Amino acid sequence: MSDKIRVLLYYKYTPIENAQEYVKEHLAFCKSIGLKGRIIISDEGINGTVSGDYETTQKYMDYVHSDERFADLWFKYDEERTDAFKKMFVRYKREIVHLGLEDDVNPLKLTGKYLSPKEFKEAILDEDTVVIDARNDYEYDLGHFRGSVRPEIRNFRELPKWIRDNKEKFMDKKIVTYCTGGVRCEKFSGWLLREGFEEVGQLHGGITTYGKDPEVKGELWDGQMYVFDERIAVPINQVDPKIVGVDWFDGTPCERYVNCGNPFCNRQILTSKENEDKYLRGCSKECRRHEKNRYITENGLTRQEWEEALNKIGESLEVTA
Ligand SMILES: [Zn+2]
Repeated sequence: MSDKIRVLLYYKYTPIENAQEYVKEHLAFCKSIGLKGRIIISDEGINGTVSGDYETTQKYMDYVHSDERFADLWFKYDEERTDAFKKMFVRYKREIVHLGLEDDVNPLKLTGKYLSPKEFKEAILDEDTVVIDARNDYEYDLGHFRGSVRPEIRNFRELPKWIRDNKEKFMDKKIVTYCTGGVRCEKFSGWLLREGFEEVGQLHGGITTYGKDPEVKGELWDGQMYVFDERIAVPINQVDPKIVGVDWFDGTPCERYVNCGNPFCNRQILTSKENEDKYLRGCSKECRRHEKNRYITENGLTRQEWEEALNKIGESLEVTA
């Protein structure tokens, strides 16, 4: 069907020489075929999510596969009705995923054991295995594997410190990790091995592959999978789906994300439109009365209306000690 959109998710760790030059060449090709999305190219490899119609995404996959460095690159894809991106970005970064290590891990040399969806499901059910989510807290909050550990991190580079602080909980257990498409776990599982954890596995192909596997059908996944594009939430569990996200303000079931109105905070919170209006899209008292709160400008609230809205929830624009 030519009227359908495909969203491709992919990565490959492989040395790229003159990566900054390759960024320009890659971007020029993507633009020439009308592809949209976000791609990171670094000296250690490539990582991207892109979208387009069948013909466009096929041209892109052929282009990538024709390069011998990427000949065996694995494209995972979702079929969607609309594009997942508005623009095309190809950027150079020092790493395709940033774990914030002084001595970085090279997954080509050290990484955890690859687990198929079926093996991963067995690991979830094994009592001696700890399942650690390698993603950020707001991704976990929208959906995660049943019983998995939620690191309290807002960014991947905070993960090593969080593990070290909580090490005694996991040290004598078998560990399996998972992330969206697998790219973060390649590095994270290698780091766990280097830290002295002995048995470390990773979900090969990530949650996205698990959700499409004809045998496991996404079972034991609760909620939706967070994605870094316009879709935000993607269903995974085809067997017994349920909602696990809860509204930031009142704890009711919720799968709608907004960014906190305070641009200096920008925290992603799950909330209904009703509560977004009631709490002026601010995640805290400080954010609600912050002078740069975008909710106020976007909705053209006067100072008096702002004050009245805050009074309704027992707050005020005045900062009191
Ligand atoms: Zn905030």
